[in-house]
Amino acid sequence: MTQLDEIKSRLDIVDLVGETVKLRRAGKNYSGLCPFHNEKTPSFIVSPDRQTWHCFGQCSEGGDVFKFVMKKEGWDFKEALRYLAAKAGVTLEAYTPQQQEEKDAHERLRGLLEETAAFYRHQLLQTEAGKPALTYLLEKRKLTPQTIETFGLGYAPQGWDNALKHFTAKGFTEQEMIDTGLVSVREEKRDTGTPEHRKTFDRFRQRIMIPIRDEQGRMTGFGARILNPDDFPKFMNSPETPLFSKSRILYGLDRARKAIRLADQAVIVEGYLDVIAVHQAGFENVVSPMGTALTEEQLRLLKRFSRRIVLALDPDAAGQKAVLSGLEAARQSLDRETELRFDARGLLRHEARLQADLRVATMPDALDPDEIVQRDPAQWKSLIEKAQPIVVHVMETLAAGRDLEDAKVKSEIAAQVSPLIEDLPNPVERETYRQRLARFLKVDERALSGGQVPGPRTRRPRPRVRENIPAQEVAPPAAAPPVTASQKIEAHILGLLLLRPGLLFRLDRALQEAALARMAAEDFGYTDHQMIFRLVRQSLDQDAADADRYLAGAMPEALAPLAASLLAGVGKLDPVDDRLLEDLFRGVVKIRRAMLAESINQLRFLQEEAQQTGDLPSGDDMRAASYRAMVQQHSAFLLLLDQAQMKKNGRR
Ligand SMILES: [Zn+2]
Repeated sequence: MTQLDEIKSRLDIVDLVGETVKLRRAGKNYSGLCPFHNEKTPSFIVSPDRQTWHCFGQCSEGGDVFKFVMKKEGWDFKEALRYLAAKAGVTLEAYTPQQQEEKDAHERLRGLLEETAAFYRHQLLQTEAGKPALTYLLEKRKLTPQTIETFGLGYAPQGWDNALKHFTAKGFTEQEMIDTGLVSVREEKRDTGTPEHRKTFDRFRQRIMIPIRDEQGRMTGFGARILNPDDFPKFMNSPETPLFSKSRILYGLDRARKAIRLADQAVIVEGYLDVIAVHQAGFENVVSPMGTALTEEQLRLLKRFSRRIVLALDPDAAGQKAVLSGLEAARQSLDRETELRFDARGLLRHEARLQADLRVATMPDALDPDEIVQRDPAQWKSLIEKAQPIVVHVMETLAAGRDLEDAKVKSEIAAQVSPLIEDLPNPVERETYRQRLARFLKVDERALSGGQVPGPRTRRPRPRVRENIPAQEVAPPAAAPPVTASQKIEAHILGLLLLRPGLLFRLDRALQEAALARMAAEDFGYTDHQMIFRLVRQSLDQDAADADRYLAGAMPEALAPLAASLLAGVGKLDPVDDRLLEDLFRGVVKIRRAMLAESINQLRFLQEEAQQTGDLPSGDDMRAASYRAMVQQHSAFLLLLDQAQMKKNGRR
């Protein structure tokens, strides 16, 4: 049995949900107020038998322990796994003594960074020296005191040793302050020939301090902006430290992650203060890179929350010069401090490799995102909605203000854009953009793929969806936990599909012929099963690799042991496809049946409860009626399932 099963077997959904929801025993189930939507009477049910929860109200959604913490915390599966493993006392990571030492040291450095953030916050809010900075934030940047508090903004006062003295007095060593990037070191040689002299001093002086946290909200470092316009550089960050890696962190992600999941969209802006302002305006799905070009690592991190990513570029970064220099590649303009240098080719590669959907939104009137949301929040919304695919953005930027009737202009634009299109790994996409470019330039598509377009298409490396989960996080299988009947059937279906992904097409067809819905991830009650099913579906939707090769490559390591045990559990395979198909069909009917039957039970109970409570007669009558309607609907589905299975049996 896998570690996942081990975790599931050690945790009780009633305890877990009970930590946040007041549950009342009701027959063999528990009920309570749904934690995910606002309600006055309970429509949220927890089933200890099935170890599931379900909201029959507004959410109309349910799942297992994993789904519950993922939804509650806005976490992905891996994070939920880590959390629940710790809770269950299952060790995911085995630390060597050396790793443990390193971990402890990191904890101490994080503690120092937390205290530093508090120190700067105090300087901003409670000292005379911090007043000009506070005034700047409130009046110039139009931030509210609440926002300043939320993002923990601070001020580093003038002087070379404010922080140094403060933290020395608190018992931190100079080396620790160096390791967090709080102080800088200069080696000085005295002209007298005395030994080298090491001088340490506060790195941040007379700057607005922006604490930078990782996606889990842990302190990693600071961004710092000048207050005095003559100071240089305008922005600086903590140096690279064991905790702070510019290419890996996205500013604001700890606060944005939930909103990104909800909106299924992430927006990348240029600066920290843009993130804060846009967040304050009510758009919380915003992050920014760290003053360097956007890396694939950052995009990969973001993609864990949504694959739909919009780059909100200021006109400088989005404009023709940027597009052209991006296409000519290499030449990086050092005079610009923008983080979002637009490099179409690089971005398209990331997009393909990560199977993300990258789009570009251009800010109008030479305004920054923070100025736009302050002027008109609705405009921000519509700008993001109108974001365009990268290739289209390049096309339109190159054409802006030029005469598209001019043959020379046409061929120039074609020469710039065609290589980008031919570079795309997906043939369908290539064809779509070729047509789009042809229409745009009003030329025949064949003319585009002729002369100026470089040689034959080379086969691109296969895109791989792969979450970076180090192997050691999944320990060897543990003792066998109890397995429910539906879990067994789900495992059997998945095992068959993993072995023969292509059968899913035939299964879908068979289901539809029987007037039933196609197979969906929601047919599975367990989050890990749902994830594996989605991968099977994806393996059929892509054409870069054979389905089973794709599956092998795309399986996250956290799920790999489960996938292996599912495959092993299938046993000897019936050589006749038709019989496998019948087997699958029966399995699907069974799990759907079990789920419907359970829902009907729970709904009946809710219905009774609504009828019994007398304090809100009219509202409860309505609730009872709506539950009754849902029971009827579920029963109708159940009947349909039974009929389908009977017909199937009859045909045999
Ligand atoms: Zn709900």
